Amino acid sequence: MEWKWSSVDNIASDNLPERVSISNGNDKLDCAFCGGKGEKPKGSRCSVCGGSGKISLQQPAIKCAYCKGTGKDKPRSHLTCTVCKGKGYVSVREPLETCSKCRGKGVDPHNKLPCTRCAGKGVITGKG
Ligand SMILES: [Zn+2]
Ligand SMILES: [Zn+2]
Ligand SMILES: [Zn+2]
Repeated sequence: MEWKWSSVDNIASDNLPERVSISNGNDKLDCAFCGGKGEKPKGSRCSVCGGSGKISLQQPAIKCAYCKGTGKDKPRSHLTCTVCKGKGYVSVREPLETCSKCRGKGVDPHNKLPCTRCAGKGVITGKG
């Protein structure tokens, strides 16, 4: 008998987000805001990646906790996420610790704005 757990919320307080590794050699990731198409809105040049569909990022990086990697301020918003500037990823400094204020979600539980402690990243740089 095998139990299958399906977890909706996989960010536990002691479970740090996965690092995004850029292994294709040129430090480029698909732009989250336009989905790598280079157009946002359709037909116009994406302001985040400048139309290239790719963004560069300093490593280590994690998926943006505030927008969950969508690059958007709100699910159907046409505004870029203020935390990652629309990239969908944020650079971080190791060692990482889950932010205790927002519990890794990057969202202030009181006002739904980016968490002031971790600046919306969901993690903070610990001592180490
Ligand atoms: Zn783009
Ligand atoms: Zn974001
Ligand atoms: Zn936080």
